[in-house]
Amino acid sequence: MTKPILIVGAGLSGAVIGRELAEAGHAVKIIDRRPHIAGNCHTERDEATGVMVHVYGPHIFHTNDEEVWAYVNAHMRFMPYVNRVKTTSGDKVYSLPVNLHTINQFFGKTLRPDEAKAFIASLSDPAIGEPVTFEDQALKFVGRDLYGAFFEGYTRKQWGCSPADLPASILKRLPVRFNYDDNYFAHRFQGMPEHGYTEMVAGILDHGNIEVELKQEFSRTEAANFAHVFYSGPLDGYFGYELGRLGYRTLDFEPFRYEGDYQGCAVMNYGDVEIPYTRITEHKHFSPWEDHEKSICYREFSRECGPSDTPYYPIRLSGEQALLSQYVERARQEKDVTFVGRLGTYRYLDMDVTIREALDTAKACLAAIAAGEAMPVFSVEP
Ligand code: UDP
Repeated sequence: MTKPILIVGAGLSGAVIGRELAEAGHAVKIIDRRPHIAGNCHTERDEATGVMVHVYGPHIFHTNDEEVWAYVNAHMRFMPYVNRVKTTSGDKVYSLPVNLHTINQFFGKTLRPDEAKAFIASLSDPAIGEPVTFEDQALKFVGRDLYGAFFEGYTRKQWGCSPADLPASILKRLPVRFNYDDNYFAHRFQGMPEHGYTEMVAGILDHGNIEVELKQEFSRTEAANFAHVFYSGPLDGYFGYELGRLGYRTLDFEPFRYEGDYQGCAVMNYGDVEIPYTRITEHKHFSPWEDHEKSICYREFSRECGPSDTPYYPIRLSGEQALLSQYVERARQEKDVTFVGRLGTYRYLDMDVTIREALDTAKACLAAIAAGEAMPVFSVEP
């Protein structure tokens, strides 16, 4: 290829694809409209406290994918970190994800694993077959009381709608355990990049064939100067929102500082709907190998994403699905563009999956270039 390749977005998708193409000898230009790389996993040190802050909210790296784990470790040392989330409900603090400790705390019992399993099964709604909605999934697997205390209010705040309108897949992210394992994730590998995600992404981008330009808006007319475009921005944004806007939730963070240890853990959720925020993140607990007297915390509020807000979570309710199909059709008519990542394919993606898909997409595209064939329109079908 004589012309360079343009990548829109310097987040995980763009950086990984860019690096793979650069390694294969292609000249790659990566632009991002923000003043920093690393997308929503951007981290930076807070000057007042010295703490590494997850600027767009908590990002914990966890995966079962050995290749992806090796990939991130090749660009930054990962330090041991296990996410242990707590939740406040009523005037009490409980352990998450729902585990034997949570069940015994909540019901004031001393059940052993088998007893707890039988007890929770007795609370399950027998009328629910294969759960389709978030609410059915919860009522089937933890029963009404735990659902009400931990999931109903939180989910209303997080998604701005009834859990009865959300898909079961959102709750399936969380396990229910009948032992005292309070690790939030069930993956083999988990950790935090020693110097933050932004440094890690800088390492991925550090290649002689890659040029990065920040604070650069993408325009479709620019695409003509490039052999191919990998677009990791919002799918609807690529088309100037001409068919309407795909729904997202955005987050607002209210930072506050504290002398000492504010809450004793990295993430404290708030299950009660009356409390307007969903969780408080105390960032210094994401770096347990560092020592900080001072602390910075973020109160996290979720709301509908407006035109000038940062999109976080794709909503994907039935209305969005219809609009999404129309944009997918529009995308198929474009030439020489591949839509990638969370925003480009409008999916709720964890970081490890994002990297896996980026590696696979780069491989497929390099094979297509070698064979003189067209590159895929999407990293993965939306
Ligand atoms: N959730 C909840 N209560 C909690 C934690 C999570 O109801 O205390 C629900 C909520 O709907 C959330 C989903 O479970 O969107 C997935 O949670 P996860 O912690 O994976 O969300 P993320 O950290 O990606 O925002």
